[in-house]
Amino acid sequence: MAFIHDVLEEPSYGWKDANGELSKPTPRQIFSEFFSRLNIFSNKKNWLSFMSWAMVLCLTPFLFLFIFKYFSITGLVIAFVYSMIVMGTHGTIWYHRYCTHGAFKFKNNFWRFFTQNLTLKIIPEEIYAISHHVHHALSDTPGDPYNAQGGFLYCFLADANHQPVNRNLDEKGYNRCLTLMKHTGVTCNTYAQYKKWGSVANPFHMILGVIANWAFWFTAFYLLGGMGLACAIFGAAGFWAVGVRTFNYEGHGKGEDKRREGIDHNRKDMSVNQLWPGIVAGEWHNNHHLFPKSARSGFKPHQVDSAWYYIKFMHMIGAVSHYHDSKKQFYKEHIKEKVKKITEPVFCPTTGKQIFATERV
Ligand SMILES: [Zn+2]
Ligand SMILES: [Zn+2]
Repeated sequence: MAFIHDVLEEPSYGWKDANGELSKPTPRQIFSEFFSRLNIFSNKKNWLSFMSWAMVLCLTPFLFLFIFKYFSITGLVIAFVYSMIVMGTHGTIWYHRYCTHGAFKFKNNFWRFFTQNLTLKIIPEEIYAISHHVHHALSDTPGDPYNAQGGFLYCFLADANHQPVNRNLDEKGYNRCLTLMKHTGVTCNTYAQYKKWGSVANPFHMILGVIANWAFWFTAFYLLGGMGLACAIFGAAGFWAVGVRTFNYEGHGKGEDKRREGIDHNRKDMSVNQLWPGIVAGEWHNNHHLFPKSARSGFKPHQVDSAWYYIKFMHMIGAVSHYHDSKKQFYKEHIKEKVKKITEPVFCPTTGKQIFATERV
């Protein structure tokens, strides 16, 4: 079986039903799979999914502390900006454009480390990046880890149910996973360690990395604004980690065809350009599916792209050595052709006089 069909651990309800169509599990099946995938006592290979949700759980008390003990309007504004714009944009820059698509290159490992740890670390790179390659290859078909036709829960709990790496890869398959991860700087397991832990990421390095990241940011925010600021930011980060799990469902039209003429130019899958994820995080998802390797997804003038601004700025100061930008290609292939057609001279059928499209329009 092709690597892309085999690289993720198939859920107990399968990717396809007996007719070869998307297997649509019931909410009960989804929850049952979810809890079995988080159970580290039954199988320690569940450690990464467990850790991913345990981090969200650890951040919840900070949110409550902020709401019930340290609440202030300033804190609320900071929390809003941090969860929506800072975490969202960082997710696009780091997990999406760099780790998965390699849309740009850092000049050296310092700038990679700097960007990786620019916000609180909550999502393991491996969970996001490897499965996202599958999402692009199999968009909206069985095997797509967050196929929106599977429903909200199918996507919302995908990081545990559909995104972990297959635990039975042979050495060749595992090495292909390593090639997808090697530029990220994540310390990876040897094949023997993978057989033991079921993951590409090395558990000890991963856990140490998260502890160091959280300790650094807690100290920094505490020194800047005391417990109030630290709780606002940590709570906001937890809020984002849950909220971001809804994106994959909505970014592909909630399982329906919501593509609009003149807005969603890519017609190969159900991805849509949405205003809110675009504005806060640069996730113009339909544009992105057209040009996945582009470091910019906001192509049109109103499509602000904060992730692109960061990458461009880093390039200006020499921290990013190379990037792909598909804006010109987007206009050439999807906008200019239309403009050309409209401005071609046309002739009045009665007078025979040449009129121009601008007059006609
Ligand atoms: Zn997509
Ligand atoms: Zn992508």
